[in-house]
Amino acid sequence: MSTEAQIAFRDELIAHGLLHATDVDGLYAQSGVFEDIITRFDALVTRSGTADGPEVLRFPPGMARSTLERSGYLRSFPQLAGTIHSFAGGDREHAALIAELDRGDDWTGGQKATGIAFAPASCYPSYPIVARRGPLPADGALLDVQSWCFRHEPSVDPARLQLFRQREHVRIGTPQQVLEFRERWLKRGRAIMESMGVPLDIDVANDPFFGRAGRMLAASQRDQALKFELLVPITSTEKPTACVSFNYHQDHLGHAFGLHTADGAVAHTACVGFGLERIALALLRHHGFDPKVWPEAVRRALWG
Ligand code: ATP
Ligand code: ZN
Repeated sequence: MSTEAQIAFRDELIAHGLLHATDVDGLYAQSGVFEDIITRFDALVTRSGTADGPEVLRFPPGMARSTLERSGYLRSFPQLAGTIHSFAGGDREHAALIAELDRGDDWTGGQKATGIAFAPASCYPSYPIVARRGPLPADGALLDVQSWCFRHEPSVDPARLQLFRQREHVRIGTPQQVLEFRERWLKRGRAIMESMGVPLDIDVANDPFFGRAGRMLAASQRDQALKFELLVPITSTEKPTACVSFNYHQDHLGHAFGLHTADGAVAHTACVGFGLERIALALLRHHGFDPKVWPEAVRRALWG
């Protein structure tokens, strides 16, 4: 994947006023036009999922640090996780901090971890909420969630952000319920993205598990076809970008959060995640920087 192509697309987005750069790669302010695309796409996902009657949950970008710890994320993806730290000293430490700032030195040494971590995926904060209610009803749980997510993967690729939004549907229940959900959303996700008029492909995928042991986890995830991605070329045709992910976690999160089905078995979980910024970028890439002149069918699907 060429870095030049990524930088060129990023610069065009900035030149058209769609994104505004900051001092940090992968962190942008988004324009009203960009936000409107996301809002309309978000509404399209709502329309597609309403018939199933999901419970709606909207999360702040931070979740309880205990949720991150319980989820197993730090075992698999320590390189991506982000925790929120804050000043915890007295007058002496404050004076030291100011002196460090004035000297241009690192002032963050005295920061202490707070009880809040960034959500790495928008489904994570939902599991402890469901678990707290006790065993699931016979038809399990179905959630419609959205959160800002943080992943520490700075990049010049405008499609690889450090802070971005995921709109997800999450199913918690028996293996059969969960697999049926994933099949349904594989079809629906494809149909939604086909209506966006972008070239796409669906393929098995793996998560970026950390370290040497991680290579085996990634291979096993692929062998068992636990993760599918809907890919759209954005800054490269050879390496298209994952815009929607379909994940089957088996009973991993059920164990981690103590989720149980009505008959007492450990619950299985699956989620479908739409990367809202990536989808907006895919649309801008294929239909141009001005949504007013996008193809009529795409405009109708989004703006009605
Ligand atoms: P990639 O393989 O490109 O790192 P992923 O498959 O790990 O992405 P998931 O963990 O499945 O992504 O996240 C669900 C969705 O969130 C993805 O399909 C994508 O649309 C979006 N997403 C993931 N990482 C980023 C990111 N760094 N910037 C913007 N969107 C992202
Ligand atoms: Zn998820």
